Amino acid sequence: MDPLGELIDRALFPAWEGLVRGRPTLRLLRYLRQTEVRPLDELEAIQLGALRRLLRHAFEHVPFYRARMEEAGLLPEDVRALSDLARLPLLERGDARAAGDTRKSTAPPFPTIRKATSGSSGEPLSFAYDAGSEHWRQATKLRGYGWAGHRVGTRTLHYWGAVSPGAQATARRSSSRSHALKVALDRGLKRERYLDCGVRGDEELARVVEELRRRPPEVLICYAQAGADLARWINARGARSWPDVTVLTAAERLLPADRAAIVEAFGPRVFETYGSREVMLIASECGAHDGLHLSMENLLVELVVREGEGTRPTRPEEIGEVVITDLHNLGMPFIRYATGDLARMASRARCACGRTLPRLGAVEGRVTESLVDGEGRRVSGLLFNVMMVAHGASIRAFQAVQHRDRAVTLRVVAPDLAEGEERALRESLEPYLRGVPLRIERVADIPTERSGKRRIVVVER
Ligand SMILES: [Zn+2]
Repeated sequence: MDPLGELIDRALFPAWEGLVRGRPTLRLLRYLRQTEVRPLDELEAIQLGALRRLLRHAFEHVPFYRARMEEAGLLPEDVRALSDLARLPLLERGDARAAGDTRKSTAPPFPTIRKATSGSSGEPLSFAYDAGSEHWRQATKLRGYGWAGHRVGTRTLHYWGAVSPGAQATARRSSSRSHALKVALDRGLKRERYLDCGVRGDEELARVVEELRRRPPEVLICYAQAGADLARWINARGARSWPDVTVLTAAERLLPADRAAIVEAFGPRVFETYGSREVMLIASECGAHDGLHLSMENLLVELVVREGEGTRPTRPEEIGEVVITDLHNLGMPFIRYATGDLARMASRARCACGRTLPRLGAVEGRVTESLVDGEGRRVSGLLFNVMMVAHGASIRAFQAVQHRDRAVTLRVVAPDLAEGEERALRESLEPYLRGVPLRIERVADIPTERSGKRRIVVVER
């Protein structure tokens, strides 16, 4: 890292975060750097403590979970081992939607940070969390990214969806100028730049390469398939003129061929991350490049197979559904939340990096198809997720289909979608789909695949 980066990492950011903003992020980060190498049974004891606190709070102050626990005959004090949690039913996305405010805490800490997600199955969901959970999330992210060598103050380029998550949360949370200034300072201190990866034609990719040449970042953070498209474009033209850049991929599964292309364009330091808008960083790859360590101090992650009325944990090598309990979000808890993703654990052997946090192997089911616009430019399928979060508050489910003649039909299940909302949605999508007719079709239901997942983007071939 350069001298300015060092100064930011060691002095300016700690002063800003701790003294000015009064946030405990860096204290939590120090804690997480100590726990990640503790024996596994110690880590599980930490999880159990946090889980019991969460369940006690949920039972006393969150009507939805009190009802669920009473129905399941499971009181907080009955939970003596992590496995006891499996006595509670899964929280499906539809349940979470239907529960509305009954999932919110009626006592402090209240959920003050509101967000929405379209998820990987095309069913939007609004959710919230409290400030304490935000600090855990930020510390967890800093630790996970840190395994790739990223620090605060690292010159970072985000090759990312149009509406950056941070920008959006900010827009919702506050419109005050002092808040906007704080966010700008935050970004400036972190030396982060954002480029939109929505459309990936020659012209757009050439502009990214120009930016890479003009101000080479130390770290590139990108959607996996956007990074791969960029890398292939660079490789095909021999356009690389920069030293190795660390690459962190997110939002989509990093396929082996995509990783190879990225390594050629940016060097061998490529790290896959797995997260979601609901809980942020779930798992992250370390320098051993052999699976993704789980963020287990912040999240209890189960891989389960449905059996009868309940679930059982996966066997070694078996693929299961990713189920998450957000241990520090008391404001609007996610307890046994079925994310809709599928994953498999990596080997149980200790990682070469020395960390004891268990590792996920591949995360399946996070592959989004790319579309093409009227001139043949590739367009990120995640565009629909991004726009749905921004404009689709009343959309229950969606799916975009690109037909053989390139026309796009966006199917939405949204009985309450207002005229104006539909117009805003259309206006936000059209610039990305130049030369392609877009039809928005209201339907009663969108069937899922045989796997039970709903594909967000279908490209008819
Ligand atoms: Zn490791």
